[in-house]
Amino acid sequence: MKEKWIQLALRLAEATAATSTDRYHKVGCAILRKEGSVCGIGFNGQPPGVDLTEDEALHRDFRRRLTTHAESNALAFCKPGEPHLLAVTLPPCDRCLVDAVRYGVKIIVCRPSLDAAHPVPYELAKRLSVKIRVIPV
Ligand SMILES: [Zn+2]
Repeated sequence: MKEKWIQLALRLAEATAATSTDRYHKVGCAILRKEGSVCGIGFNGQPPGVDLTEDEALHRDFRRRLTTHAESNALAFCKPGEPHLLAVTLPPCDRCLVDAVRYGVKIIVCRPSLDAAHPVPYELAKRLSVKIRVIPV
């Protein structure tokens, strides 16, 4: 896939992250088809109709349990086999990586994480035969 599409997907993921409802950790994702058209975008947050109380929002572990990931929300717009490239503003978690492969994603690009809780899942990506590349800002 051409570098211009990869850069476009990352910029689109970053723009999407800005709309996240999570006040502490905004994550965005953009998924492109092989020819470069967009098949899905998503950001992290609670499911529609679920609003956190102030107390719930302050408790990271509880908040995380009620949060759907940006990749999952973007994949919800795609038909299986449609996605080719997934761009996300953080390294994907194991679950999102597996889900991306299930939908047919071949390449994942992400921004680096400054948080040890979000390591780049290189070994799992290799096992699933998906390329993963970290692109610094
Ligand atoms: Zn995830």
